[in-house]
Amino acid sequence: MQDASHGQQPSETETSGTTAIAAQDNRSADGIRLAFLRHMRRTIGKPVEFSNTLDQYRAMAHLVRDRVMDDWITTVESYVQHNVRVVCYLSAEFLLGPHLLNAMLNLGITDSAEKACDELHYSLTQLADEEPEPGLGNGGLGRLAACYMDSMTTLEVPAVGYGLRYEFGIFRQEIRDGWQVEHSDKWLEYGNPWEIPASEATQHVSFGGHTETTKDEKTGELIWKWVPAFTVKGVAYDTPIPGYRNKQVNRLRLWKAEAEDSFDLEIFNRGDYMGAVRDKMESETISKVLYPPDETEQGKRLRLMQQYFFTSCSLQDMVRLHKLQKLPIEKFADKWSVQLNDTHPSIGIAELMRILTDEEEIGWDEAWTITQATFGYTNHTLLPEALEKWPLPIFASLLPRHIEIIYEINRRFLKDMQAKFPGDTARWARMSLIGEDGEKQVRMANLAVVGSKMVNGVAKLHSELLKEDTLKDFYEAFPNRFTNVTNGVTPRRWLMLADPPLTALLNEVLGTAWHTDLYALRGLEDYVDDAGFLDKWRKRQEESKGRLGDFIKRSMDVSLNPASMFDVQVKRIHEYKRQHLNALHILGLYCRIKSGELKDLPPRTFLFGGKAAPSYTYAKLMIKLVCTVGELVGKDPQTKDLLRVLFVPDYSVSLGQRIYPAADLSEQISTAGKEASGTGCMKFMMNGAVAIGTLDGANIEIREEVGEENFFLFGLTAPQIAEKQKAGYRPRDFYEKSPLLREVMDGLRDGRFSNGDRDTFAPLVRDLLEVDRYFVMADFDDYARAQSEAGKIFCDSKKWSRMSLLNTARSGKFSSDRSIREYCQNIWKINLDR
Ligand SMILES: *Cc1c(COP(=O)(O)O)cnc(C)c1O
Repeated sequence: MQDASHGQQPSETETSGTTAIAAQDNRSADGIRLAFLRHMRRTIGKPVEFSNTLDQYRAMAHLVRDRVMDDWITTVESYVQHNVRVVCYLSAEFLLGPHLLNAMLNLGITDSAEKACDELHYSLTQLADEEPEPGLGNGGLGRLAACYMDSMTTLEVPAVGYGLRYEFGIFRQEIRDGWQVEHSDKWLEYGNPWEIPASEATQHVSFGGHTETTKDEKTGELIWKWVPAFTVKGVAYDTPIPGYRNKQVNRLRLWKAEAEDSFDLEIFNRGDYMGAVRDKMESETISKVLYPPDETEQGKRLRLMQQYFFTSCSLQDMVRLHKLQKLPIEKFADKWSVQLNDTHPSIGIAELMRILTDEEEIGWDEAWTITQATFGYTNHTLLPEALEKWPLPIFASLLPRHIEIIYEINRRFLKDMQAKFPGDTARWARMSLIGEDGEKQVRMANLAVVGSKMVNGVAKLHSELLKEDTLKDFYEAFPNRFTNVTNGVTPRRWLMLADPPLTALLNEVLGTAWHTDLYALRGLEDYVDDAGFLDKWRKRQEESKGRLGDFIKRSMDVSLNPASMFDVQVKRIHEYKRQHLNALHILGLYCRIKSGELKDLPPRTFLFGGKAAPSYTYAKLMIKLVCTVGELVGKDPQTKDLLRVLFVPDYSVSLGQRIYPAADLSEQISTAGKEASGTGCMKFMMNGAVAIGTLDGANIEIREEVGEENFFLFGLTAPQIAEKQKAGYRPRDFYEKSPLLREVMDGLRDGRFSNGDRDTFAPLVRDLLEVDRYFVMADFDDYARAQSEAGKIFCDSKKWSRMSLLNTARSGKFSSDRSIREYCQNIWKINLDR
């Protein structure tokens, strides 16, 4: 009797059974349709029949966010319960790309959402196209941070991304008459459904002023006190980052700067209306706009303020959470692993020292041990001019306490180096945290290396060159501190989301294990000699090209030939990436077609995309060159069916998702030794493009994986470049030796390709013939040779499809899941097999 009545009670399993049904319904087409209608009424506030596509996107975004939030709550609870070690990924940039379809993919609700949209007579893709892209990054470095957030969550690493909530992200690019025109990016104009303000996390960050010392009455020790000139409020905005079908959600916490008191009533009452809001405006400029990477002089002070602002907010937030969990501050490094994405947040080393010594009153030695155990530093550049340095006067006036701390770190560090390398004064000067050649400077890379437990480069070659060259002195002092983690990209966004037909084909033959274990793509190798499958592979590739063609027709009103080879270079515009080498090669083809030397050339479509830093005149001229070449070959009746050159404006993550899958040939042609890693190359490879490239960055490892027979190699190697540099490189020698290069350069100088205009490209011609820092002239002939080989093989479609398939099959290493596993093992010491 009792047993029977007991059976009537909702037992534990039944309760969770009901939750499971509710959750399932949540994710069904019906559940999504109902939630959509509910959000349309209550969140958007419109009758559905009056709604426009933007309203529909917003309603859909809100209902997807609801579903992410459910998993977020459980993830947070479990982190607190298990007192896990947390990775804090500090980055000045997070180039996330649109959220909606990615969140649906990771939650596994895309099919239901599509069905719900069908029933409502909407197109999900049209509605997703309404999402403004959060362009909070310039390029590879910011995109890496975003890929790593996806992989950390998918691998269930407890992680927080910390950065800045720029009100204006990367500028929108327009091409007018071949020249780049910049427009401000108002991505927050219509609100952002993906972020949630976290009021409990508000922080206060000080700047300027001076320091004072007092003597402790009892111990007689000196106590430092910072008397700042002003303080800015940091307000946290959280964006949930869902993992791939694992119900895990990590947090991206971005800081917005606000004035402490946004409105000074006293000033207002005195009648100074502008003065009353001036303080608010000045404070808020800190998180106003994302800076381009190649600016050197402009806005130095504001940029340092940005870096210190978000780094300080983030460290204070960690300390707050640490204490909230009642953990002793001495155990800080056991709880938090802070990864510095380049030197932008490296001021954090001095800031943590300040917090530990000044605020927590821990002795210097113990504080230093904790600090060093907390940080890891990822270096992203070999270009010495790109290593961050701050003029001492700017630094000291903004951060008077930090400069003292840095001097103390430096004093102790140099004492160690003097003991280690006695008498080697030149070495001490090179290693000092303060540069004394010319104007005194604070060297952020040196601070980052000295204050971190581990330092890593982002590809094998890059990490080797760091040890041999850029950071040689430090490597000799701390050899065990240096390691490599080759970059990776998330296959969820860059394969599954970017190319659904390819994803379907891979699922059909391999199952779905590759979604979280990209090495499983190796299974494709079973099909390399299967003529039927190769044919399928080729057709699928043509369909991808057709889809990009449709987009370009819609957006630019240009028709592309999907049977032509799509030869693609998309990335930031920079001399070291050498878009001009690509353009000069096309001019070479043009000349050879005009002279009748080249007859049966397979038709090619050259696609370019990428932004130039607004103050980088040379890069803007490179864009103009590409556009000029495009006009030339597109108008000439002899070439217009063989060559097509298109600069696709406003390159971004969403544009990348359209372009990478449609590429046949991937241009990775940087000067050897200059590209730290590159990640674009990995996205191309996954999607089956074959690379033409130099032995640089991750290209080397791509070639290693795919086999040299499946990679079009050309150009000088890094050691050969270094040697030429030392011996005195003379670009004109190459011009004189190569008849084709001479024809191209003479034509460019004489206005043959630009309707007689001899002025526009004169600076470029002069630079290439006289200086050519990036060895364009030296690599031209070999590049043309490799290009012609690629063209020949493309005509053999079976052979090409085989190469393409092997590129996808062997791309497993380049998943960011592999990179994150390596960070866990070698740097963060997190055990993933918990
Ligand atoms: C991947 C990516 C990059 C980096 O490209 P590289 O070829 O590695 O320079 C830059 N911008 C966007 C939008 C990207 O998606």
